[in-house]
Amino acid sequence: MALIVQKYGGTSVGTVERIQAVAQRVKKTVEAGNCVVVVVSAMGKTTDGLVKLATEISPSPNRREMDMLLSTGEQVSIALLSMALQEAGQPAISLTGAQVGIITESHHTRARILKIETDRMERHLQRGEVVVVAGFQGVNSTEDWDITTLGRGGSDTSAVALAAALKADFCEIYTDVPGILTADPRLVEDAQLMSEITCDEMLELASLGAKVLHPRAVEIARNYGMPLVVRSSWTDDPGTWVRSPKRQPRPLEGLEIARPVDAVEFDTDQAKVALLRVPDHPGVAARLFGEIASQKLDVDLIIQSIHEGNSNDIAFTVVKNSLTRAEAVANAIIPALTAGHSISPELAPDVMIQQKIAKVTIAGAGMIGRPGVAAQMFSTLADAGINIQMISTSEVKVSCVVDEVDCDRAIATLCEAFEVSQSGMKTQDAIAPTAVAVRGVALDLKQARVAVRHIPDRPGMAAKIFQLLASHNISVDMIIQSQRCRMIDGVMTRDIAFTVAQMDAEGARQALEAARSDIGYGEVVVDSAIAKVSIVGSGMVGQPGIAARMFEALFKKEINIQMIATSEIKVSCVVAEDQGVMALQAIHAAFELAGTQRIQVSA
Ligand code: ADP
Ligand code: ASP
Ligand code: MG
Repeated sequence: MALIVQKYGGTSVGTVERIQAVAQRVKKTVEAGNCVVVVVSAMGKTTDGLVKLATEISPSPNRREMDMLLSTGEQVSIALLSMALQEAGQPAISLTGAQVGIITESHHTRARILKIETDRMERHLQRGEVVVVAGFQGVNSTEDWDITTLGRGGSDTSAVALAAALKADFCEIYTDVPGILTADPRLVEDAQLMSEITCDEMLELASLGAKVLHPRAVEIARNYGMPLVVRSSWTDDPGTWVRSPKRQPRPLEGLEIARPVDAVEFDTDQAKVALLRVPDHPGVAARLFGEIASQKLDVDLIIQSIHEGNSNDIAFTVVKNSLTRAEAVANAIIPALTAGHSISPELAPDVMIQQKIAKVTIAGAGMIGRPGVAAQMFSTLADAGINIQMISTSEVKVSCVVDEVDCDRAIATLCEAFEVSQSGMKTQDAIAPTAVAVRGVALDLKQARVAVRHIPDRPGMAAKIFQLLASHNISVDMIIQSQRCRMIDGVMTRDIAFTVAQMDAEGARQALEAARSDIGYGEVVVDSAIAKVSIVGSGMVGQPGIAARMFEALFKKEINIQMIATSEIKVSCVVAEDQGVMALQAIHAAFELAGTQRIQVSA
């Protein structure tokens, strides 16, 4: 007999008939000899409707009241599903988050789960009842009992957290597609079903826009080693398993907030090549990395900064013994980039190399939605007087490129700051990467780009900026510092650009404007008309040419790349918003991800 947590999303419980169909599936699972806890979302688009009502009353509704309102949707579905189960002859009881004892932080509309009481659920299960729990909600404490919600799409997180707390055998997420696909089938019609995916890959995909799973649900599954499967509630097909490596047992106290970082890693076998002032038009990245790939040189990090005037900086790292060849490739393409243009020498493209660098990384699956973690890394390095040359972020890692001489100090101070007892060379996840380099592609149209110009070039500036944003609870992604320095009023300055969720963009701008004279940078520019397209796959590690193929696919569609950022298992490009869908389709095709079977979307 197994203990199973099943979660049904909005469309799966969108009508009375659907609720009855869900009741039948739950009943069948019980009859097969299992104990079942069910988590449900609000019916259909109920939550969207509630949000709309609130914004008709206030442009920025009070967050506590918002939670009071939004949590009502789930209360409707738990009651109806329990009735349907009882009607079908299956004993069941509905429980709100408060009744279960799902205790969260007090951050309304984006609360993280701290603790889940299991006694009451266990009592009902022992009596042979199905427990139907309202997803997406909890309470901030057993003194105030203020209702909190976990953030849109958060019922997935409720389900996996309940599964972890109950030590369930596995957690099933039922939705309106047959499982996890190579792309959103609503945007890419030949998207293909995967039978399995690693947690790390899914974490990236979910965070980069694949809303089939809430990223925090994947984070919990990874931390607690909880087997997770995504399936259609319309069929009996097996769906997609999300595979987690075996984990050390982890305390359930502080469920979503304990220990965000569990390793400090380093890599001193890297060297940096930067191309400065390359023209800002389609095809430059494709050409550069196409050449690099044809020489079989393996590139680790790539970043392309925002353009100042009409040119970009592109920087990348390669293993040390490839540096000479990478530098030669970079030098060789410069004449082609400027052919036909007369450019004054100080504005001409240039190649800059740095041999003695090190990449230091903090890793752990507890960083999503916690901007303070990256900020703490930057300030820890700043306090040690260590300058950060490049930053790369992923859902499970933040990496900084620093001077090689600073590497040992950086590691020591990071281990101390994050209470990690030992550091190590970069290791691969325990799950063997698949032969395919790219598992899936994702599009995020809800991001905005923020550029902060003319930041004094000294240690601690990134720390100040990201701490400021963290104190406003704003998470940043794709952080890119320009490679070039500019002298402004006798001070060397750099630009930093990053992406944030659109809903945080105005808050970020205001916070940065308010601190401008204090920190001493120039203008802050926000652009919301952007799209972020990404490729994800653990098989891209050590396979040259993957990024080049993505850039080439965009170039063929004449799509200009505005920003590039990579981590070990993903490459993301920012392009113009109106080219986002075309970009997604182009890269899906370029990596031959298309399936022959058309995927059924059930709603
Ligand atoms: P639910 O209400 O069941 O939680 P969601 O709407 O939150 O469902 O998530 C399911 C939707 O996620 C699908 O209908 C699909 O359009 C979208 N989606 C985006 N990316 C992917 C992907 N890679 N694989 C499957 N579905 C995806
Ligand atoms: N009903 C909530 C939402 O629409 C939670 C969920 O569906 O996961 O965001
Ligand atoms: Mg969902």
